[in-house]
Amino acid sequence: MIIVMRDDALQSQIDSVIEKLNHMGFDVHPDQGASRTVLGVIGDTRKIDERDLELEPGVHEVLRVTEPYKLAGRAFHAADTVVRIGDIGIGGDTVAIMAGPCAVEGEEQICFLAEIVKKAGARILRGGAFKPRSSPYSFQGLGKQGLVFLENAAKSQGLLTVTEVMDVQTIDLICSHVDILQIGARNMQNFPLLKEIGKTGKPVLLKRGMSATIEEWLMAAEYIMAEGNPNVILCERGIRTFETYTRNTMDISAIPVIHQRSHLPVVADPSHGTGLRDKVAPMARAAVAAGADGLMIEVHHEPEKALSDGPQSLLPHQFESLMEELRVIAWVLGRKL
Ligand code: PEP
Ligand code: MN
Repeated sequence: MIIVMRDDALQSQIDSVIEKLNHMGFDVHPDQGASRTVLGVIGDTRKIDERDLELEPGVHEVLRVTEPYKLAGRAFHAADTVVRIGDIGIGGDTVAIMAGPCAVEGEEQICFLAEIVKKAGARILRGGAFKPRSSPYSFQGLGKQGLVFLENAAKSQGLLTVTEVMDVQTIDLICSHVDILQIGARNMQNFPLLKEIGKTGKPVLLKRGMSATIEEWLMAAEYIMAEGNPNVILCERGIRTFETYTRNTMDISAIPVIHQRSHLPVVADPSHGTGLRDKVAPMARAAVAAGADGLMIEVHHEPEKALSDGPQSLLPHQFESLMEELRVIAWVLGRKL
């Protein structure tokens, strides 16, 4: 439920409405806009008779919202959220590029790739240290050692970092080494993990589950935000469909849908979205054209030897020329890389 206060509502009237709702057992999140205050009421509001609230002095309107996500939705928070990490803002006029290998495979590999992606204009270095592989016999990542390699490689280039967190036990460790916590597609509805991530306050890259609707995805964001962490960046990474010519079906339309429904920034991952190197650039261009606030792209200089996702990793020169194209597309839209 959303309560829109009148433009001329007094602070004492706003406080009194909040107090009344708190007394009824509801949490209230006030959003102080330029001209008026909007109150988001959290909890099961079905028992409230909205006329009781409409009669309160200073109340302009009481709206029942059908969307179950309140913290992640636009209704309660109209302005775009810009997630600030270091000197970067994700969701503003900059299209943030996160690039690097699927997995950190060694110190030399990640240092080499950090330099490549930095030179091409990426701001954030990606690399998995704890990998969610479909087979238990596949490379599982270097773990803690991988985090240290990632952190050092990024620092030497002035890049920020993003890596996946797979379980509650490794949250503290990962928080101490990286800037952005990635929740992978397979964990999008791991609710205990989402809750613990919500308690950290760290920026989170929340990937869309491979079979998740946009509403389920936003509800996953809601889990993180309800624990007090507003720094959620959504990531469209392709969904399962009947199509077999690509690894996943990249849902470009999710980008404008998210922008309409939510104030959170949304980035796109065309590497996992397509699974095929030659389809990454077209989908990356399309995502930026559709309004993506950033991209996550896998890059590897020896993809045939990569320990994971080589076939969908761009070669360094392909990444460099894609970045040139993206700069032009971003410019057309009044944005920059
Ligand atoms: C990844 O980014 O390497 C990854 C495993 O992604 P997803 O969770 O989207 O499959
Ligand atoms: Mn990967």
